[in-house]
Amino acid sequence: MNVPFIDLKAQHQTIAAEVDEAMRRVVADADFILGKDVERFEEEFARYCEAKYAVGVDSGISALELALRAFGIGEGDEVITVSHTFIASVSAISFTGARPVFVDVDPKTYTMDVTQVEAALTPRTKAILPVHLYGQPADMDAILAIARKHHLVVIEDACQAHGARYKGRRVGALGDAGCFSFYPGKNLGAYGDGGMLVTNNAAVAEKVRMLRNYGQREKYHHVFLAYNRRLDTLQAAVLRVKLRHLDDWNAARQRAARWYDEWLKAVDSVITPYAAADRTHVYHLYVIQHPRRDALLSALREQGIAAGLHYPTPVHLQPCYESLGVPRGALPVTESLAPRIISLPMFAEITSKQVEFVCQQIRQSAAD
Ligand SMILES: *Cc1c(COP(=O)(O)O)cnc(C)c1O
Repeated sequence: MNVPFIDLKAQHQTIAAEVDEAMRRVVADADFILGKDVERFEEEFARYCEAKYAVGVDSGISALELALRAFGIGEGDEVITVSHTFIASVSAISFTGARPVFVDVDPKTYTMDVTQVEAALTPRTKAILPVHLYGQPADMDAILAIARKHHLVVIEDACQAHGARYKGRRVGALGDAGCFSFYPGKNLGAYGDGGMLVTNNAAVAEKVRMLRNYGQREKYHHVFLAYNRRLDTLQAAVLRVKLRHLDDWNAARQRAARWYDEWLKAVDSVITPYAAADRTHVYHLYVIQHPRRDALLSALREQGIAAGLHYPTPVHLQPCYESLGVPRGALPVTESLAPRIISLPMFAEITSKQVEFVCQQIRQSAAD
């Protein structure tokens, strides 16, 4: 049996007619740039996130960078984040001119270890950027309490957590701004690149609208220099269709996660994901730990199972961040996770047979 890591074709088949119609309408109207579907999708996504404003951009990393810029963060500032994440959480900080400062992650939830944040503060610290990694929200109340005490901005990297809840509330507008990616493989994915910033702050929403569109409010009146970082109308049209299915798809991911939990319970060498009681985990990734990870990964691949690594090398140990001078050993939990984690196939359409097959192979490999 072949088990893909994710099956975008299977998902498209379930919505093909709706998507075709939505794209046809954009093409028929030649409404390509900041068209009606962008505006409608922004309204619908803001409502979905229980936020006042949403601004569509071209990617998740643009959402992060422009959010930071909109709060005036740049040269000379420091932003606290994690190293156990995708590179974009950190490079977005660097692109503003600010310096990323790492804290370790919690060994159970894999999100920011909040107990380390205060020790990392300096007079230059301007913001905290937690990542809702793998689909589970970071401990936002604790982060917001520190931020309020020290007058810091909180920007959520929600690129893996569309629809997740923290104490009943959707991620995105829990802090000052939240950033989403619509990369095709995300829980809500476009048919190309896309991203979104959500916020309850009208001035920040307005600033990001200008930052994504040549620094203009009115056409050909450029208040400051800015790039083109707009969300494409065709992508917005696809995303409007897909947003209507997101809660069902997240529920299907959660069901698949329960199958995995159940079938892996008996395998002593495997640590399954921990979902904190006050949060919903939307399982963008289902990540387990195993002491002989590389052997397990090859065994699964030999059986036609497409497992992945998220991420094999922590950001602070990447060549591009050598200049930060964060030594090996500085973030022990992050560094101990990297060689132990493995992401199992996870997508809304995965069947219980496929999950069972993956778990059988893991049991077998763990017994060898
Ligand atoms: C995907 C992702 C991003 C970046 O999104 P792009 O749309 O690829 O720019 C940022 N942070 C995290 C945690 C991600 O998973």
